[in-house]
Amino acid sequence: MTEQRRIIARVLSDASDHPDVEMLYRRATALDSRISIATVYRTVRLLEEANILERHDFGDGRARYEELPEEHHDHLIDVETGAVIEFQNTEIEELQRKIAETLGYRLVDHRLELYGVRLDKNEPAKGN
Ligand SMILES: [Zn+2]
Repeated sequence: MTEQRRIIARVLSDASDHPDVEMLYRRATALDSRISIATVYRTVRLLEEANILERHDFGDGRARYEELPEEHHDHLIDVETGAVIEFQNTEIEELQRKIAETLGYRLVDHRLELYGVRLDKNEPAKGN
């Protein structure tokens, strides 16, 4: 059990594509076929409660996960492919802080998701 959790945790930390539980399950069972989908669900919930994992909802009804990033970033979601592109923008960060301040708040957290379609599908994606 502990070993299975370790495998799932490793699959998560190796992932850079914000996988959902199905994707995690497929990758984990490739390493250990005895891992059940229930174990994946349970492990993901435990890691989320321990603040090791961040859960996202990118609008397709499937919870997506990523290891809590060292540096804050926001997401752009390609609505045609479901690809998730991470970005950072200091102007947006500053603007959000100012908005909160104007409303009488100190900003402690935020989430920003952009949804888009590729302008030029022949160009390689600019995100990481
Ligand atoms: Zn991310």
